[in-house]
Amino acid sequence: MTGAGGFIGHHLVTALKREGWWVRGADIKRPEYGPSRADEFVLLDLRLQENCLRAAEGMDEVYALAADMGGMGFISSHHARILHDNSLINLNTLEAARVGGARRYLFASSACVYPEYRQERPDVMPLKEDDAYPAQPQDAYGWEKLIAERLCRHYREDYGLETRVVRFHNIFGPQGTWDGGREKAPAALCRKVAFAKLTGDPVVEIWGDGEQTRSFCYVDDCVEGIYKLMRSDYTEPLNLGQDRMVSINELADIIARIAGVAVFKKHVPGPQGVRGRNSDNSRLRQVLGWEPRVSLEEGLALTYAWVEEQVRSRLRAGSAREAVPA
Ligand code: NAD
Repeated sequence: MTGAGGFIGHHLVTALKREGWWVRGADIKRPEYGPSRADEFVLLDLRLQENCLRAAEGMDEVYALAADMGGMGFISSHHARILHDNSLINLNTLEAARVGGARRYLFASSACVYPEYRQERPDVMPLKEDDAYPAQPQDAYGWEKLIAERLCRHYREDYGLETRVVRFHNIFGPQGTWDGGREKAPAALCRKVAFAKLTGDPVVEIWGDGEQTRSFCYVDDCVEGIYKLMRSDYTEPLNLGQDRMVSINELADIIARIAGVAVFKKHVPGPQGVRGRNSDNSRLRQVLGWEPRVSLEEGLALTYAWVEEQVRSRLRAGSAREAVPA
């Protein structure tokens, strides 16, 4: 599995081990918030072909999750790097899987492939898989995902590699990036609310007017869906997300309720991505006979508790540092 040191990859390794698989994890870094349960973990820069060959060698199945990515702040300001690095990662990983004789390959795509013109209002129609064309993703990140999806299709048609393509819609949960610039809205808001609670400063900054909408899917549902899709016969891209759409303001309010703190939402300029986005899960239900089950409130309660713990340790470390004489 590539990206095994990342948020979803780390959870997926744990799930695959529970199912009894032998797992080799590959990533440029180890998981940040706990040891990997992978049987073997190789530190490799997967932009390089020889490293991808090493990662895929002897593997029956490849889960391709590695990507240079982050939340809107990162994605909207690193177009060249994202398109360059992720193209290399995906071209080389897919070819290495073919050369290594893998039978199945799952590619982690994204709702970011959907065209900007279908996501211009907060109350958008949920996105169906076929809506991806005519193509006009907002960012380089989405364009690259779309090309990698097509590459998977051609490798299946031309070389018989059984490829699966999953389009995630905003996955969140514990042990994901929560600070540093790559974090996404749920983790960032959990952090801001936790700081508000623990420091007594009620101001929580929200990028834009906060009326932009999204749906959010808990990571346990995500890894279950990935596994079911890999085991299925379905070869076309498939949405994997929740279909309950909320605004970023609502998301902040839910998190504040969970934290038990009153916050003041301050709207500041910042990247917002598309105005509205939701997943149409008709095909997901039809293909897998399943859909995500963990409610937004349940998932956020688990995520908030974990992020609050991180913030608490950070604040403790900060006050310990301040206590040391210069
Ligand atoms: P993540 O950033 O936590 O994980 C990605 C991993 O890829 C990281 O551990 C990173 O170190 C690794 N990576 C980056 N460059 C590498 C390189 N050159 N060589 C080796 N490893 C490298 O992100 P995630 O949230 O776990 O996402 C996993 C996959 O799902 C990604 O492909 C992402 O684009 C896709 N996705 C995620 C979401 C989401 O909401 N989290 C939504 C849509 C799509």
